[in-house]
This record gives sequence, structure tokens and C-alpha cells, in this order.
Amino acid sequence: MELSNRQEKIIEIVKHNGPITGEHIAERLNLTRATLRPDLAILTMAGFLDARPRVGYFYTGKTGSELLTEKIKKYKVQEYHSVPIVVQESASVYDAISTMFLEDVGTLSIIDENSCLTGVVSRKDLLRAAIGNQDLSALPVHIIMTRMPNITVCRKEDFIIDVAKQLINKQIDGLPVVKDTPNGLEVIGRITKTTITKVFVELITDNQI
Ligand code: ADP
Repeated sequence: MELSNRQEKIIEIVKHNGPITGEHIAERLNLTRATLRPDLAILTMAGFLDARPRVGYFYTGKTGSELLTEKIKKYKVQEYHSVPIVVQESASVYDAISTMFLEDVGTLSIIDENSCLTGVVSRKDLLRAAIGNQDLSALPVHIIMTRMPNITVCRKEDFIIDVAKQLINKQIDGLPVVKDTPNGLEVIGRITKTTITKVFVELITDNQI
């Protein structure tokens, strides 16, 4: 977050004189309390200042990068995941390839008749099958998929930063987002490297920290 000149000055005043009321900060800057209100609101919301009723403003002592780190750590899967793209395990490899093109995704979740996750198929899995000289319409996708229990999944209450670490550690492009049901794991979404890139861009363009 870029702080304006005035916001930097406010922080300095509060740092050295806190707790200090909005009124007194305004006096020191030769401004009215009303002019200052938006700046104080931004600085409090962003976490630089703490406001206590009838006492005044305190400096929290947190730097911009500390506040940014705190913010990133709070991002959850539920706010960012995309819709799930699934294929039945009985479908052919040919159908899986068609779905991948139609849906414009790089990884498919494979499900059983109860809509529960049984595996995952990536671009390379399909390429491997395609160079194998087989009839792709007769080859069920469950033969070539990476199967449960070896699938790394996440849940909507998980943190984005933990998903990002999993993507790096496991060297994969995405994770299915699942919900626990009596029949198994229902696929409710997906998080991919594109999702993480979007979060990154949002952080940079979001000036509210
Ligand atoms: P690509 O095949 O394009 O390199 P990935 O790196 O995502 O895509 O996949 C590499 C391998 O990991 C594939 O065999 C795929 O089936 C498997 N895979 C992909 N996602 C997962 C996951 N969430 N859990 C376990 N294995 C996965």
C-alpha cells in the first residue's frame, strides 16, 4: 500500500504522541478533523493505527510488509476457488481430452457414480495415453488417472498460502476443493496456479492492503 504524504505524517505524529485524539492530530497538521477522517479510517483499516474510543489513536508498530504478510496469510480457499471440472471415471480418455479442450483447463477431477472424487487426470497423463497407440475411445479414463488415496486435496476453509505450498512441494498444477460426505469426497471446486496468480495480482492492485 502506497501511503500519501499526509498519511506518513499522521503515522509519525501518532508514533511520537500516541495515544492522541483525531482532534489533536488535526491541530498539529492545521487541518480540520473532517478533512483527516478518511486518512485515519484508511490507516486504522490497514492496521498501521489502532483506535480506542475516548482514548485516541495508537501506533501498532507494524510495518507495511508485516501487514501485507498478515493479510496474505488470511486468504482462504473459499474466496478464490473456481468451479470444479469433473469427468466420470467410466468416461473414455477421448472424452476426457474433449472436456479439457472445451472447458479450457489443464487438470480434470475424476468422479464415481456418487459424484465423489476417485482420481485426477492432467495434460501429461492424457498425452502419455495418446502416444501409447491405444484406441482412446475404448480406454476408460480411470485406467490412466492418478487415483485416491494419492490425491492431494484442499477444503474451503484451508488457507491459500498452504495450498500454494502444496502445489510447489508436490509439483502439481492444481488441487480439487472437496467437501466430506458419507460417500467420500465431493468435488466442489478447484484451485490452480492461475488462482494463485490472480491472488498475487489482486494484492498488488488492492490499495486498501
Ligand atoms: P502436467 O501433467 O501438465 O504436468 P501436473 O503437474 O498437475 O500437470 O500433474 C503431474 C502429475 O501429478 C500427473 O500424473 C497428475 O495426474 C498428478 N496430479 C495432478 N494433480 C494432482 C493432485 N491434486 N494430487 C495428486 N496427483 C496429482
